[in-house]
Amino acid sequence: MSVAFEVQGLPITELAEEFGTPLYLYDGEEITTRFRGLRAALHPALEVFYSLKANPNISVCALLHSCGARAEVSSLTELVTAERAGVRPEDIIFLGPGKSRAELAACLDRSVHAIVCESVEELGLIDELAAGRGVTAPVALRVNPSFQVKGSGLTMGGKPRQFGTDEELLLAEGRGLAARYPHLRLMGVQVYLGTRILSEESVVENTRRILDLAERLAAALDFPLETVDVGGGLGIAYFDNEKDLDLGVLAAGINPLIEDFVGRHPDTRLIMELGRFLVAAAGTYVTRVRYTKTSMGENFAVTDGGTNHHMAAVGIGSYVKRNFPMAALERLDEPATEPWHITGPLCTPNDVIGKKVPMPPLRAGELIGVQRSGAYGPTASPVHFLSHGYPAEVLVLDGRAHLVRERDDVDVLLAGQRLYRPVGQGD
Ligand SMILES: *Cc1c(COP(=O)(O)O)cnc(C)c1O
Repeated sequence: MSVAFEVQGLPITELAEEFGTPLYLYDGEEITTRFRGLRAALHPALEVFYSLKANPNISVCALLHSCGARAEVSSLTELVTAERAGVRPEDIIFLGPGKSRAELAACLDRSVHAIVCESVEELGLIDELAAGRGVTAPVALRVNPSFQVKGSGLTMGGKPRQFGTDEELLLAEGRGLAARYPHLRLMGVQVYLGTRILSEESVVENTRRILDLAERLAAALDFPLETVDVGGGLGIAYFDNEKDLDLGVLAAGINPLIEDFVGRHPDTRLIMELGRFLVAAAGTYVTRVRYTKTSMGENFAVTDGGTNHHMAAVGIGSYVKRNFPMAALERLDEPATEPWHITGPLCTPNDVIGKKVPMPPLRAGELIGVQRSGAYGPTASPVHFLSHGYPAEVLVLDGRAHLVRERDDVDVLLAGQRLYRPVGQGD
């Protein structure tokens, strides 16, 4: 008997049988454990907002909300998702560099906690929409700081960027800024410096500098600091040379900063917004091998799912291709003796989920899993390539598996298209 992967006692063979492949499988217990571990480590004054971008599944959002997470959203659909998952408007913030009028209007109509504004022009539009409604819009300024973060996989600030407004531009505006927009209430500061940070020291240093920047900015622009969002960007280890963050070390660095800040600003809401850190480890992308073959001496396993569902596995912003953790899910105990290329169904040479992955000798029909795949999976992949569509998503809660997203079928995939035949052709 070989050892098979299971989630809360449910064997992968049965789950794959019941729900089919390709499939995203989420362990709800892992998500709640992750959230509670973080919650227990962090200073209680620091609220955790879930960034839906990482995994917008409504049941995942509802699960995190049930643990106490609030929501950070960046589109109208994400806003409605959070709302339907049960998050109250006062626990939702909306950010994004290119918000539409409809999105801003929805924020005002629902009274979200804050609109995180990313440019001076956007302030003008929010002011106009608020005036039309006879309301005052709560606005937090997203700041592109003059400093940079070290140790981020993808830098979002501290250099020319489309996100936020430069610290120097805002400081130059001074008290005049709020006065120009009478229907806005400047009430907060948000900074997000980058994602996939695996150095506790970098997170701590960012937090220190962001808290300091928020104080300086609020003083210079003369608004009360109701909210400071210190971003986050906490990573998880994907590759051999990476190590997960140590929450104890992180908390020991951050909590005194928060304690200090709370002493000076007891009424300010403090926010950390996290996506990947909360959900990545809980997800497995499950595919089934359709064919095995060799080409010029190398092994290929062609599976039923590929980069159309898991673009991140191609190598997140890395020059040298590194593989996500992968396994032959029905034979975890067997020695991985052979290098295999794990490829998908797309007609492009780039559809490679893993290169030379050590595996036991693979066979058609068996299950392959890409682990730590709960964040930036199908939502960040070209799911419509070759018209395959979204895969199924299954969430395991209290030992029971729930289909939380149906896989797209042909009718769903064609529903949005209109067929026009050239006049005089066809029957
Ligand atoms: C993407 C994003 C997040 C979430 O990032 P993670 O690395 O998944 O935690 C948070 N805030 C902003 C502004 C983002 O763009």
